[in-house]
Order: sequence, then C-alpha cells, then structure tokens
Amino acid sequence: MAASEDEDDDEDISTTVYSSAGNGQSTNAAVGRPMVAAIRCTAGHLNPPQAKRCRVCPQTVPPQQETHVPRPVLGVLRLSTGEDIPLDQDVLLGREPKPTSQSIDKQHVLRLPSPGKDISRNHLQIRLVGWRVMVTDLGSTNGTTIRPPGGGPAEALPPGGTRLVEPGAEVTLAGVVSFIYEATG
Ligand SMILES: [Zn+2]
Repeated sequence: MAASEDEDDDEDISTTVYSSAGNGQSTNAAVGRPMVAAIRCTAGHLNPPQAKRCRVCPQTVPPQQETHVPRPVLGVLRLSTGEDIPLDQDVLLGREPKPTSQSIDKQHVLRLPSPGKDISRNHLQIRLVGWRVMVTDLGSTNGTTIRPPGGGPAEALPPGGTRLVEPGAEVTLAGVVSFIYEATG
C-alpha cells in the first residue's frame, strides 16, 4: 500500500488514457449516460434508492420520493501510477488494451506500464451497472486481487471472474499496478 510520492515531474509516465467513442459520436457528458433512480443524503449527494447512509459522506439518507436522474459519476479510480480515472463510463485496463467486439462502445481505455509484461494485454474490465461497479478479470496471466474496504486480506479474483467492488476497495493487477475505487459525489 505504501506508494512512493516522490515521482519526478519530468519522468516519462507511459500511462495513457483515452476515450473510445463508438461510431464517432459526440462525447457530450450527458449523452449515453443511463438514467437511474436516486435519492439524496442530507448534504445533497445522489444515492441508490435503498441507501440508508450516503455513499460519499457520513450523512444519513432520509426516506423520500425517488427521482430519476442521469447516472452521476460514481467515483474515481486512483491508480498507483498517479492517474485518476473518472467512473463516468466503463474502463478497460491492460498492457496493450484493445476493445473487443463484445465491449460496449463507450469506455475509457487505459494502457498501463508493465516493462516486465506482468500485466496482460487485456487484463481487467470495469463495468458500471446501475449504481454498481463490477470488476472482471479478462483471463489475465498473472491475476487480479481485490482488498475489501477497511483492510482485510486481499482475495484473488479467478481468471475470468467478476466481483462487485465497494468504495474503498483496492484492486491490484499482476501485483504491480493497483487502484483504489473512491466514491465521489
Ligand atoms: Zn452525502
């Protein structure tokens, strides 16, 4: 967990991120964002309809009529490489990630540095399903582990396996690059 914070600004960070927008459509923020049912905490953060406590802050979520809103950005992936990836759409991570025909057409594609080629070309897929964040190992060679929020032992994700991750979870690819899923409002 102890990440080095003294990276030189001049260092060539080879992590790159870009958005693949299907069919050359506009990537206007609201376009393509599914509608979700939502209620608000006392501080105004959007939450799933059954929430009792806010997913972002310590406030409670009082009983109320739900509304339908474009799904908010669910959070951010804070990578050990220094990148922050917003969870406004799906994410594909790997050493040489190439979206397959099965991939949905809008997602972040994140190339991770892996000089020892520990990370697989297509290593991990993150899918946003309603309010949920699902992580799927794409049959990677060196595996994926997930540490639940609040610590506890990291669990290996079977090759090809999918898990729901909660805010605060730490996901590690091939033991070399990790990210923490942080909920935002
Ligand atoms: Zn809140």
